[in-house]
Amino acid sequence: MAYIISEDCIRCHSCIPVCPCNAIYKSGETWAMADGTSHHDNKRQAAISGNTSYIVPNKCTECMDSASEAKCVAVCPVGASSKDSNYIESKEQLLEKKKLLGI
Ligand code: SF4
Ligand code: SF4
Repeated sequence: MAYIISEDCIRCHSCIPVCPCNAIYKSGETWAMADGTSHHDNKRQAAISGNTSYIVPNKCTECMDSASEAKCVAVCPVGASSKDSNYIESKEQLLEKKKLLGI
């Protein structure tokens, strides 16, 4: 399961530097798998949200190696980041994603 940012986001950008996968982008910003990872795909992709900061599901590993809660959740002042029930993944899938990202 990836995380998702809701409309409550106030675009403070606190979550962006703490994400170990570089999965979080500013509203309207383009993204690429290769941004901040070892993934080979550096093709720029259209922004997922123009209103809030957003998480790229293909890059979010749920902070699965972290002993505490997800880092984006821990720093968000308004509780805008949460698990996305529409994007469910097993631990094995998350591990494979982490391997693909080389992080
Ligand atoms: S759960 Fe972790 S990996 Fe996913 S977006 Fe938040 S900080 Fe990044
Ligand atoms: S920390 Fe919360 S309010 Fe700030 S940009 Fe991230 S999701 Fe939005």
